[in-house]
Amino acid sequence: MSKERKAETSKETKIVEPVDGSTPSAATLESIQGQLSKLQNNLRAFQGHFRSSRDHTPCTSAEFRYMVDHIRNVCPPPKGCTCTCVREESEETGFTTKHRKEFTIQIDKRLTRYETEHVLIHEWAHVLAWRPHHPLSGDHGPDWGVWYSLAYRKYHGLE
Ligand SMILES: [Zn+2]
Repeated sequence: MSKERKAETSKETKIVEPVDGSTPSAATLESIQGQLSKLQNNLRAFQGHFRSSRDHTPCTSAEFRYMVDHIRNVCPPPKGCTCTCVREESEETGFTTKHRKEFTIQIDKRLTRYETEHVLIHEWAHVLAWRPHHPLSGDHGPDWGVWYSLAYRKYHGLE
């Protein structure tokens, strides 16, 4: 796993610094700019990550995108399923629905970054724990708990 990652990194480095000293193509430059822009957004979200949990300002869209990208990366939804995460003002802090193989997680957009992160992990565990004939309402049993634990640890890089 780490070997594969290393190989991927050095491949990307070759694109940035062509070995033959030629000028990168416009498409390559555009691709690099796109990657850089994404990294800058991630960095801004990451900086927000360290704000105090007592900060009452609502989670920003950039922070939310970072969280969703991150959890999707470390804990992909079940094979063949997709999961869309949206934020709207809602009476519920968060809830998850499923239509065929498409999950939708909705989170109250007034929540702080800290609250949003916790609700996202909670709802993501519902996606991972989803079983046929198991209605979501009131479904926080041992199965969900195991998935919650896994999602929490993976999200926070604890395993
Ligand atoms: Zn729940």
